[in-house]
Amino acid sequence: MVKSLAFFQGDIVPIEQAKVSVMTHALHYGTAVFEGIRGNWNKNKNSMYIFRMKEHYERLIQGCKMMMMDIPYDVDDLCNITVDLIQKSGLKEDVYIRPLVYKSEERVANLMLHKLSSDFTLIIVPFGAYIDTDGAINCCTSSWRRMDDTIIPPRVKISGHYVNSILAKTEAVLAGFDEAILLNQDGNVSEGSGENLFLIYKGVLNTPLVADNNLTGITRDCAIKLAKNEFGLEVVERSIRRSELYLADEVFLTGTAAHITPVGSLDSRLIADGNVGKITKNIRDIYLKSIRGDNESYQEWLTEVKV
Ligand code: PMP
Repeated sequence: MVKSLAFFQGDIVPIEQAKVSVMTHALHYGTAVFEGIRGNWNKNKNSMYIFRMKEHYERLIQGCKMMMMDIPYDVDDLCNITVDLIQKSGLKEDVYIRPLVYKSEERVANLMLHKLSSDFTLIIVPFGAYIDTDGAINCCTSSWRRMDDTIIPPRVKISGHYVNSILAKTEAVLAGFDEAILLNQDGNVSEGSGENLFLIYKGVLNTPLVADNNLTGITRDCAIKLAKNEFGLEVVERSIRRSELYLADEVFLTGTAAHITPVGSLDSRLIADGNVGKITKNIRDIYLKSIRGDNESYQEWLTEVKV
């Protein structure tokens, strides 16, 4: 039987019981770090495959360090809690796994991280496509700039910095686009509101440096590995200017939620002919097989859970 459960204050409880007070520090200031992990259901194998769970929890722990958050769990503990919750929930479909470490102290007028206690919670919800198309999406350059590492470190998933992504995504969708591409303060391309970015020009795969203020994306890492290992592509991490995107042969976005999403246009200019690019399609096809346990290679990326 499927149950909506959460890991909350050290126990697995029905999700309705996982409630925090309006006094909670994180609610007021965004003082939390989180992860987004996918569990991919494979009907033929009757198994859930959690994708790169360890790497997600390693990034969560990095975020905790940044935000001075102590939790009584290491990466292995967090992986075990996740597997346990998936098994107890009984979901047999694609899921989104959302761990959150938050400043749980019920004290609002305090701006010192080191004086506030933290807690860990975890929820798992059914989750299908994030950007609902097999085709190429239409993007705009956001009027919002990606915040700099000197403002809020963007390389980990700090809750408060998502206001930046949310402003950009909302603006893009209300203007009729699917997704926003953010530039950093220097005018270099940073990333999408919830995805890293790649461009292909003359057979070379280029992606912005993490130092251009994007998240150290785990799907980004997969795309780099697949491009090199499977297709022998040269991959260059460097600063990228906006105009390079207009002239690229292919552009795609990567993210846990968005998978590998081709970009067909930017600011109403078609990228090549506006369709899904060949290299993008090849990388996406092998990625989508790998995340669901349908590829013999890259098994090390998966944690199989029998539900
Ligand atoms: N950038 C941002 C701002 C994101 O929120 C995400 C989604 N986590 C990504 C990039 C992609 O990261 P990942 O591949 O690790 O999901």
